[in-house]
Amino acid sequence: MTPVYLDHFSTTPCDAAVLAAMVPYFDESFGNPHAVAHAPGRHAFRVFEAAREDIAALIGATGAGITLTSGATEANNLALFGVAEAAKGPRREIVISAIEHDSVSRPAAALAQRGFTLRVLPVSPAGYVRLEDAAAVIGENTLLVSVIAASHELGTLQPIRDIAALARKNGALMHSDATQAAGKIPLDVEALGVDLLSFCAHKIYGPAGIGALWVRQKPPVMLQPQLLGGGQQLFRAGTIPLPLAVGFAAACRLALARLPIEGPRLRALADSLLTALQTDGTGVVAHSRSDIPGLLNIRFPGIAAEELMADFSGALYMSSGAACASASRKPSPVLQAVGLDDAAIAGSLRLSLGHSSTPENISAAAQLLAEAVTRRRASTAS
Ligand code: PLP
Repeated sequence: MTPVYLDHFSTTPCDAAVLAAMVPYFDESFGNPHAVAHAPGRHAFRVFEAAREDIAALIGATGAGITLTSGATEANNLALFGVAEAAKGPRREIVISAIEHDSVSRPAAALAQRGFTLRVLPVSPAGYVRLEDAAAVIGENTLLVSVIAASHELGTLQPIRDIAALARKNGALMHSDATQAAGKIPLDVEALGVDLLSFCAHKIYGPAGIGALWVRQKPPVMLQPQLLGGGQQLFRAGTIPLPLAVGFAAACRLALARLPIEGPRLRALADSLLTALQTDGTGVVAHSRSDIPGLLNIRFPGIAAEELMADFSGALYMSSGAACASASRKPSPVLQAVGLDDAAIAGSLRLSLGHSSTPENISAAAQLLAEAVTRRRASTAS
């Protein structure tokens, strides 16, 4: 049987159309977009500008606000360090949520080491920032608020528009890490009212190694570049990797076109997977009701996720609550924030569906999981 890949929140395969769009820019059209003194360079620059527009269109923006980065990690680092280092006034407080990705929470912690005051918004047991908590914390000393748009572990969509309104009312900037939202739900930076927004290509069938930070231009956001060099982009030095930019743009176009169909399809498949596990007597517990289509965060009480995953010997790929927190293998701070204890976190599995998911392989995955759970339970009972 072909293995079932249920880890699309971790990364996705490059779409064939994305690959095809990229190929000419590795050899035939290999110009440096910054070498505008000659025709290949000028052509590359035009291609880069068009790519930037398509990337921006995914979030309802225009290309001029886009800074291409090596991925969402760099975009998040640029947002937090860039805003903090450019700040001239007395505002010294940074507000984040308790469910941020490490690429936001670690820069925020580093800024706390440098003298900024870090305030962390808790989340409800269902995985949402509460507006009353945000309102109690965001104030005249707040420099930057950074709240994840969609949780990478729970799939919960945060009330970004309302939090951004609070930030704006208090004269603070609003950043959102939209890595798991962009391309999966409609996004519009103007409607959200954010000032900075991060996302990347490899979560949406584009190439790894490229992402973007959108930065509001009117009124302009002051941002200190973190990479200095040739000054190719206003907020980031370094030659634009044109094939990756073209691939990112193609992935954004595809994601936009597929949104109306892929969302409901993945939601229905994820629902069918959960229903199958519930009716198979696995005792499955769901940790959230994901707003992003195609995500399940679950556990089978008494069974460690890592053990269960080892049982599949290559038939089923997913990630555990611990593994989501990357190589560190520490318990997931996101799952801690929704009140799960260490045993529940050790049991948690993140299953994320995507283009390759079909009714057939999802029902096969349900069966594999149910059988593995039954085997584990039988072996611990005997
Ligand atoms: N932010 C979130 C919410 C993510 O899920 C991830 C990747 O898992 C990142 C940031 C980092 O993205 P990248 O791999 O592009 O650096």
